[in-house]
Amino acid sequence: MSSPQVALQELADSLHDCQRCPLAKLGRRQVVFGVGNPQASVMFVGEAPGYHEDQKGEPFVGAAGQLLNELLQSAGLSRADIYIANVIKCRPPNNRDPEPQEVDTCKPFLLKQIALIRPKIVCSLGNWATQTLLERKVGITRVRGQVFYLKEFALFPLLHPAAALHQAAMLPPLREDFQKLKEFLDRHSKAAEPEVAASSNAARTVQVERLAPAAQQMDLFGS
Ligand code: SF4
Repeated sequence: MSSPQVALQELADSLHDCQRCPLAKLGRRQVVFGVGNPQASVMFVGEAPGYHEDQKGEPFVGAAGQLLNELLQSAGLSRADIYIANVIKCRPPNNRDPEPQEVDTCKPFLLKQIALIRPKIVCSLGNWATQTLLERKVGITRVRGQVFYLKEFALFPLLHPAAALHQAAMLPPLREDFQKLKEFLDRHSKAAEPEVAASSNAARTVQVERLAPAAQQMDLFGS
């Protein structure tokens, strides 16, 4: 196994029976660590596991996962290209919002995943993951489809697929977000060398390069 893969597996093992926050004793079936390519250029981050994720031990399975797969395809991506995880690794009871203490306790493990995978782009799905990674109270409808250049990666907030399942009117803007993501990836990607693609574990269709801040982006926050 490659080194990020080993380190990720060690981190996953260390959380296998994590008891660090109250969610450990509130009915979770298992810790849902994350899945995907450990060398992905593009990582997706959701909020917390739901029922199906808790049952299967993987993020984004069930109806929201199927919709996500379709949207990934529309952006020229597949689950094999990306890594996907949640801010919170255990299912909150009745899918309630996580408590601040739970976020504070679990968020460092997401940051560690990001540090190991070193994606160029992190796509935050929905309000909650976006606010956690931006560390600002911003509404997803205000920032969706835009790029924010953070210290280690570019953050690309997107609407959450589950929102479109509950509200059909959200589906067109969600599809629009993924088209913007595709355009962004097309602008910043290069094709992998054929011999590298044939022998490597690295994400083969997305090799992101040349990320540079857009001068206007921080105006959103008045800074
Ligand atoms: S939510 Fe995170 S911190 Fe809390 S028990 Fe699960 S893995 Fe541990």
